[in-house]
Amino acid sequence: MRLVFLGPPGVGKGTIAEITKDAFCIPHISTGDLFRRHIKQETHLGTEVKKILASGELVPDSITIDMVKERLKDQDAQKGFILDGFPRTIAQADALKEITDIDYALNFTAPKELIIKRLSGRRVAKHSGKIYHMTYNPPKEPGKCDITGEPLIQRPDDQEEAIAKRLNVYHDQTAPLIDYYQATGLLRDIDSSGTPETIFAQVLETLQQSGHQK
Ligand code: AMP
Repeated sequence: MRLVFLGPPGVGKGTIAEITKDAFCIPHISTGDLFRRHIKQETHLGTEVKKILASGELVPDSITIDMVKERLKDQDAQKGFILDGFPRTIAQADALKEITDIDYALNFTAPKELIIKRLSGRRVAKHSGKIYHMTYNPPKEPGKCDITGEPLIQRPDDQEEAIAKRLNVYHDQTAPLIDYYQATGLLRDIDSSGTPETIFAQVLETLQQSGHQK
């Protein structure tokens, strides 16, 4: 199963991708996570993109496409994948078409106010990698990771100014991909305003209706 997860930042693509990955035994490939790993490991690429990520702008297409091309060559991606956060521009979608076919583009949607609430309340533990939400998924002890006890931090791009920027960038550069995939007949809408369980149930139903079994 080769899936593209489309939708604005904060709509829950990452959370649902993690559940889908386990259900279908396919890797969850998040370009945002790949960039953040490079930044953490202070690689050449990481240094190049650090400021771009913090600002909420997009990394140039050529850099992003090369990174995804390499990742899709890995053994674990040969039987399928979930692309989360890629493609984000028409040029990236065209490049993906050259690399591989996909089965579906799932378009996750939710009201803007809910998206802002989800993004601004998100906190992460840098070392354990665990993601929390101050309201929807708080840690046992306020401000501390349940696993490591380390202090939780807010991603620089989850701060108010960067959130506004990311939503504008999504609207201008990524939303046109909805029409792009609609035209191919591969687009399926998923209402992402509920809980992870109800959202994933829709994903399963959509994929099963299309003849794919878990
Ligand atoms: P995300 O975790 O998907 O919200 O991505 C975080 C940031 O990584 C984005 O705001 C961009 O700066 C960068 N990024 C992730 N995916 C892409 C992409 N496909 N094209 C360009 N930049 C990206």
